[in-house]
Amino acid sequence: MLDLLLPQRCVVCGRGGRQLCAGCREELPRIEPPLCARCGAPTAWPVERCRECAGRRLAFASARAAVGYDAAARTLVHAWKERGLRRLAAEAAQLVAGRVPRPEVEALAFVPADRGRRLERGHNPAERLGLELAVLWELPCLPLLERTRGGRQRGSSVAERRSVRGAFRATGTAPRKVALVDDVYTTGATAAACATALRAAGARRVEAVAFARALRRG
Ligand SMILES: [Zn+2]
Ligand SMILES: [Zn+2]
Repeated sequence: MLDLLLPQRCVVCGRGGRQLCAGCREELPRIEPPLCARCGAPTAWPVERCRECAGRRLAFASARAAVGYDAAARTLVHAWKERGLRRLAAEAAQLVAGRVPRPEVEALAFVPADRGRRLERGHNPAERLGLELAVLWELPCLPLLERTRGGRQRGSSVAERRSVRGAFRATGTAPRKVALVDDVYTTGATAAACATALRAAGARRVEAVAFARALRRG
């Protein structure tokens, strides 16, 4: 509610007006083809697997994101998550819907927050994004997953993989085709762990969708 009352400033550049001004919105790095068909990493030419995902068992069929996770995107995600600026979830959803093709699925799911984080923030950013996207894509957004334990570590892929393995389970039967929504795709380990749980609950195909994606260089 708070963000409805406060004067609006762009969280990236500080200019008065909207929480994300048109200029900063435009400058968020686009993730444009050619991409790795599976993990969505930008590649020199279209490939089925890339250096980032080759040899990894990833339970999702594809992963796509709207923007590269650069400094501006990081600032935006931080304001959205930690400061609870909910309107930014709608901005993020619009960017996703504008840049990522609508997945051919029956429902959206989202990465569940661990309880501590949810209590601390009062919201789950991935859930917010899922709910906003559900409106734009005219799909149901369902709480298909829950955590079995703990939080997740981001940053190093080893830490993330270790922390998310077996950390999720389905709350019931999953639809055959599901898109999994998260705010940031870092190594794919979280998306893969969630997709594994959805597939164990009956999903045949899981597509991961994120607002931002970490981009490796070199
Ligand atoms: Zn701005
Ligand atoms: Zn790849």
